[in-house]
Amino acid sequence: MNDMPFTSPEGFEGASAAPVAGAAAHWFVFKGDRLLVELGPPATRPSDDLRVPVRPSWARLPGQGSLHKNNNPLWFEPARTLYLGRLTGIDCWAAEAPGEASAPPAGLAWEGLRTLFSVLEDAHFALAGRAIQLLDWDRSHRYCGRCGAPTEAKTEERARVCPACKLSAYPRIAPAVMALVRRDGEILLGRGPHFPPGMYSALAGFAEPGETLEQCLAREVEEEVGVQVSRIRYFASQPWPFPNSLMIAFVCDWVSGEIRPQAGEIEDAKWFDVLQLPKLPSRISIARRLIDAVVNEMRADEGHKKN
Ligand SMILES: [Zn+2]
Repeated sequence: MNDMPFTSPEGFEGASAAPVAGAAAHWFVFKGDRLLVELGPPATRPSDDLRVPVRPSWARLPGQGSLHKNNNPLWFEPARTLYLGRLTGIDCWAAEAPGEASAPPAGLAWEGLRTLFSVLEDAHFALAGRAIQLLDWDRSHRYCGRCGAPTEAKTEERARVCPACKLSAYPRIAPAVMALVRRDGEILLGRGPHFPPGMYSALAGFAEPGETLEQCLAREVEEEVGVQVSRIRYFASQPWPFPNSLMIAFVCDWVSGEIRPQAGEIEDAKWFDVLQLPKLPSRISIARRLIDAVVNEMRADEGHKKN
């Protein structure tokens, strides 16, 4: 499944030790959660994402030279700069613009990652997802979580270490399980209170210390909708930078229980006939890939039965 958004692209070698600054480089410059890009005019074709009403017709990373000022690689003093590695031989850097950074040079703009999906080149989009997570981690680990002393970046690996008590902090990833429950010709979908109107998706929740992914799935499904499941099968995984998850998706079968949405967590949940589905998440997410794959398989099974 190479086309999963945010997956580490082919030709990319991650590294943390910064090389001597060369001429050619890709710059992933963020201000908050927005990436610096060149943007085309609004696209005429509709967006597949209910959260993004209109996408630009195209977007690309800032061109060589467009960021430079007075021989500095960027026109502002970055709050932090991290080396990411090389993409097909070209150095990749992440930088964070401080809140007071002046407006970008002509032709450049700050844009959210969701808006840039399927518009920015896939490899650059994936590395932007990596960059925003590493910048966020670096910003959140300037001080030791145990003794409060300022930490220092290690050069030989991606870590920050406390010189006083030696505690090391590594980029944190939170594993989250996604579950698509099926029963005859139906799948169970739910919606959270913050979903766009009318949109339903597969259930998901974070793994807790001490549980396997399968145990996490059974617990989350039971808590969120009150049903019991079996035959848990792995589907695929996806790095998800909103903010630092690894989504691990499964399909499973309903065993017992009637739907009882968890107050505060699940606004609504229902069984949907695979031939009559509601609005679904964008193809940026593994949720949509999972639903599409399972629904296609179930529809094919139905076709078989009829023939
Ligand atoms: Zn410490």
